[in-house]
Amino acid sequence: TFSLSPEAQGIQVAEQLASAISQDMQFPVETLKECTQVLMKKSRGINRKYIDLIHEEVERLEILLHELILVKDYHNLTFHSRDVQLILEDAMIVLTSQAVFNNITMHIDYRLNAPMVHCDEAHLRQEFINLFKNAIEAMPDGGYLMIRTDVEDNKLLVEVIDEGVGMGATVLDQLGTPFVTTKPNGKGLGIAISSEIVSAHAGTIEFESKPGQGTRVKIYLPLLNLKP
Ligand code: ADP
Ligand code: MG
Repeated sequence: TFSLSPEAQGIQVAEQLASAISQDMQFPVETLKECTQVLMKKSRGINRKYIDLIHEEVERLEILLHELILVKDYHNLTFHSRDVQLILEDAMIVLTSQAVFNNITMHIDYRLNAPMVHCDEAHLRQEFINLFKNAIEAMPDGGYLMIRTDVEDNKLLVEVIDEGVGMGATVLDQLGTPFVTTKPNGKGLGIAISSEIVSAHAGTIEFESKPGQGTRVKIYLPLLNLKP
């Protein structure tokens, strides 16, 4: 458990909303998914193409649903020691099709061997998913998304680096404020929640960005041990 920062209070509203919506969404989404899976086995030709499309969209809804569920219980954390690099890989896998679709090459630069942190795996994975998604969305014409792990001042440093549109001072100053978004379909919750997740892990998060050049997100987390 950890105490709620002033910035996070806006999230409480989002939390209640997310709780209500996700409860109502869960059953229909699960049913749709199961039905399309059955239909996928039975359909051919043009019908199969329609079913595949429905299936893809249902999977998108499912990701959204998981985001909402996470907003709902973002402060219920359970800690275990985990290899952060494996969590980074999991997050990367979740976004593979979105990256391929957007002509984005994702790459993890391993500079450490199994850096262990005390963390809530699901929350940390969502944290990375939020940041990777922002990076992908910042590169509408494709590009390179680099994820790097390193040690700095005895802390684990995870960097998420994109060569996307970047942010000006106005956006940078507002980062972390719930519901602030520059995207037509944005929710403006990703970074607010990510900041809360990082501080729940006794870590810090920093953003460096230049309009037109790209963004570098630096996440510092306490390191449990480091295998040589
Ligand atoms: P959303 O993605 O729903 O807009 P976020 O909280 O994830 O909400 O991000 C808030 C805003 O911060 C975005 O709308 C965008 O303007 C800016 N932003 C975040 N990450 C990046 C990035 N990697 N590159 C450029 N802008 C970013
Ligand atoms: Mg986002």
